Parts: sequence; C-alpha cells; structure tokens
Amino acid sequence: MAEQVKVATTEDQFLKTGAQYKESLRDGRDVWEGGHKVDDVTEHPALGPGIDLMAEMFDAQFDPELRDITTYVDPVDGCRYSRSWQIPRTIQDLQDRRRLIEYTSLKTCGTFGRPPDLAPLVSVGLIARKPTFEGSNPPFAKNNPSFAKNIQSFYEYGRANNWIMAEILVDPQTDRSRPSSESPALLRVTAQEESGIRVKGAKSVGSIAAQANGILFTNLNRPDFPPEACIWAATPTASEGLRLLCREAVSHPGAASFDHPLASKGEEADQLLVFRDVLIPNDFVFNVGDPDLVRLYGPVILWVHWHILSRMWVKAKLFVGTAQAVVEALGTFSIPQVRAAIADLIEYEQTLKAFVIASENLAFLSEGGVMAPNMNMVTAGRLFSIASYPRIIHTVQEVCGQGLVMRFPESMFDNPETGQYLDELLPGNDITARDKVRLMNFAWDLTSSSLAGRTELFENVNATPAPFLRERLYAEVPKDEYLRMARDAAGV
Ligand SMILES: Cc1cc2nc3c(=O)[nH]c(=O)nc-3n(C[C@H](O)[C@H](O)[C@H](O)COP(=O)(O)OP(=O)(O)OC[C@H]3O[C@@H](n4cnc5c(N)ncnc54)[C@H](O)[C@@H]3O)c2cc1C
Repeated sequence: MAEQVKVATTEDQFLKTGAQYKESLRDGRDVWEGGHKVDDVTEHPALGPGIDLMAEMFDAQFDPELRDITTYVDPVDGCRYSRSWQIPRTIQDLQDRRRLIEYTSLKTCGTFGRPPDLAPLVSVGLIARKPTFEGSNPPFAKNNPSFAKNIQSFYEYGRANNWIMAEILVDPQTDRSRPSSESPALLRVTAQEESGIRVKGAKSVGSIAAQANGILFTNLNRPDFPPEACIWAATPTASEGLRLLCREAVSHPGAASFDHPLASKGEEADQLLVFRDVLIPNDFVFNVGDPDLVRLYGPVILWVHWHILSRMWVKAKLFVGTAQAVVEALGTFSIPQVRAAIADLIEYEQTLKAFVIASENLAFLSEGGVMAPNMNMVTAGRLFSIASYPRIIHTVQEVCGQGLVMRFPESMFDNPETGQYLDELLPGNDITARDKVRLMNFAWDLTSSSLAGRTELFENVNATPAPFLRERLYAEVPKDEYLRMARDAAGV
C-alpha cells in the first residue's frame, strides 16, 4: 500500500510527519552494514524497522489524542514545535515534558535509549549553561567568537527542522593503558577555515546515528588533551567525509509479531563513526580549544540523565506488568514466594517513581533560566536503577519458568499436525495456549533475547557505568549537614 503522506499545515510548519522524517534520511549518508554500503537506510532490513517505529512517533505529533503530549506551542512566537525541544521554565513544564518521555519509552518498551526526544535535551542543557559559554573565547578558536551564539542558533535550527540526533562522547576501544592523546581515534581539529572547523578521528557506539538527522559529539576531558581535542559540536549525519560502520543487528526485523512481539519492531542501531576531515559549520561549534567548557559536560547533560531515569521508571512499570500477567497466566499468583518476587519488582518501580518525582519537585532554575531536575536525585536514582537491573531482569525471568524457553512460533500453531497438541496441552489459567505463548514471546524479547542483551549492556554503561556514578554521587552531594549531625550527636 502506498504510504500516506500527511501535508503539514502552516500551524504545523515546524513538525515533520513520519514520511517526512523518512524522506529526510534519504540524503546520501555514508552508512555501511554487513560489509555493504547501505543505499537507503529507511529500506534496509537492519535499520528500516527501527526507523518505521520512530516514524510513528513523528506521526503522533498530528494525532489529536497525542498532540498535546508530543508537541507544544511556544508562548513567544505562537508556533507549534515538537515537545522534544521545549525549554522547561517551570516544574509543570518538566512534568509535561516527562509525559513525552513516557510516550517514547513505552513505544519501544524502553529498548531505545536514544529515542527522538533524547538528544534535543543536550541542546536544552547547553542553553541552560549558555552564560558560561558566553565568557569563553580561547586563543585556539580562530573563527568562533561566540560559542553561546552558536548554541542558540543550533537550537533554533534543530527545533525548526524537528531534528533527531545521536549523542556521542565515547571513544573507540583501543589500548586504554596508553595516553588517549596518542590514539589516532582521538577526535581533533585539523584545520580552521572561514566556514567551519575540519575534524578528524573517530567516535564509538553512536546509538541511532544512522537513523537520525544529526550527531552531537564531544570529547570528555582528559588531563592530557591538547587544545585541538577540546571539541563540542554537532554535524549532519550526511556530512561529507563522515562514515558510519554499523555493528551486527540484534533484533528480528521481518519476524512475525506473534513470534517476536518486540524484537520484530527493529532496534536503535549503534555505529562506529569515522571522521575523515569533516567540515563542521561554525554555527554548529560550541567549543573548540577551551578545556574548561569540556568540564561542563556533566551539568549540561543533566536533562538527558533525567530522561534516562524516567525511561527506567517506565520500564520498571513494564516489568511489573509483564511479571504479573505471567503469574496470572500460570496460576502461580497465590504462592507466597511468587508474590514476594512481584513485590520486589514493585519495590524497584516505586523507588524509581520516588526518584523521578523528587528530582522534579526539587528542581531549580539554572543560570540560563531553565528548570533543572535535582542532580543528586537523578544521579542516585540512575545508580540505583542500573545496579538493581540484572536482579530485576532475573526476577522476571524466574517467574516465567520454562515458558521462557518452551515458546513456539505461530507457524507451529497454524499447522494442525502440531497446533492441535499445543492448543490442547499449553493453555494456562483462563488464557489460551496461543495467548500464553505470545506473552512468553514478549517476555523473552524484553528480558532474554539478543535485543534484551544489548539493552541490558546499554543500561549498564550508556550514561557511565556504576563505578563512575558512585564517584560522581560522592563528589556531588554536599556532606556538611550529615557531618554536623553526626559530630553533634557524637559530641565531637
Ligand atoms: C549498547 C551501548 C550503547 C551505547 N550508546 C552510546 C551512545 O549513544 N553515546 C555514547 O557516548 N556512548 C554510548 N555507549 C558507550 C558508553 O558510554 C561506554 O561504554 C561507557 O562510557 C564506558 O566506556 P568504554 O566502553 O569505552 O569502557 P572502557 O574505557 O573501554 O573500559 C571498560 C570497562 O573498564 C572499567 N573501567 C574503565 N575505566 C575505569 C575507571 N576509571 N574506573 C572504574 N572502572 C573503569 C569499566 O567497567 C568499563 O566498563 C554505549 C554503550 C553500549 C554498550
């Protein structure tokens, strides 16, 4: 069937439909997968299904029931934009923004850590810290007198074009015992031209880069960084000289939705990004040469981390729901140990809820006048969410028992030679064999498939692994009040 293209009205001039988003990806980008150059990412078996899923999120901007969740009207210019780009000025704005996070998280059952509404929050964070960027004018930066101006113009560009982006800081894994400045992978400025900077090197695990319009990238500060490696910028995915190498696919695109209710919907793909003297336009450069600005990464990325925490809460709800549906299907819900397992999942979910709500209720106005979730709540909540994650996955798997393995494809049900036995032997508590197996197929995709394996690895490290988070929490939380209480109580 021919794709229905929605025509944007004037009110919707800054919103893309799903079809327009897909069209925007047919831009000559240099993407490689399975040893071949990809002609059209939207049609590619490994990349296309994930793009289709995100296209539905774009179409949701025109759905009367989802419009207020997915879009907002800017009070200054009266135009409607994707809510992904909204700058929260009040706690209510943060809460409204979270409803979009809940929508995008549920759409992928949390398997996309970089859904379309994530990376615009980097831009929001840059706006929040703009006053600090305003003061920077390092001698190394020849043609970039105003990083703050670029932050603003990139924000305007991304919002007006309803862009989605990857967000990348990590370097390719080489020999970590050697100084990173010796690595050919370290991203560096090789030339400064009138229209922009030339950048050479590589970045790794660029989640969603090949399926997005652009890439936000930075080098995390290391003591040995030369000024040419202090970079924070953005670039279109289709930039000349930028080559994207996809890792092996982990989902099951093309599979029947019965067999893989989740993994058949595709995935966010990860890429190694090779910058071969890519020209980054001046307007998209937020730092070049200033090591102090690189250190702002943590404060800038706060809204992204709040997104991740909120998505983990949505996933926690999904884990509780899936486990409860399973124990009802198996009729094990009255066994005390099974009830205790579900209670464990609920405890995880309720704790994440508390972190999310507290992070919003304790929000503060940043120097740039942007409402910022409470950093300590976000960091502590994220640490709790990832440290408990393997146990939570294991608990969902445990209540499923053999059902997680003894799953059968729809074709086995459809063939009378086999289907009659499955229909007769496998029904559960008030549920047909088919529905019970479909539920287990979903639980498999969510907790145990290769898609789930990638998601579990992603959760553990995507926004820095637990050891880093512990150090960050220790450094961030002021300890004076605790000390005073303890010293007073001890009489010291
Ligand atoms: C599926 C997936 C998707 C991802 N998507 C993105 C993305 O979109 N954007 C992005 O920027 N990054 C992304 N990442 C990368 C992630 O940020 C990194 O994996 C993480 O920061 C750890 O860096 P590394 O993998 O290079 O670990 P390495 O530096 O190679 O170290 C390996 C391990 O050694 C340990 N280790 C190393 N150094 C220390 C230290 N100083 N203290 C304590 N322990 C240490 C840690 O356990 C670490 O995991 C993704 C990762 C995965 C798995």
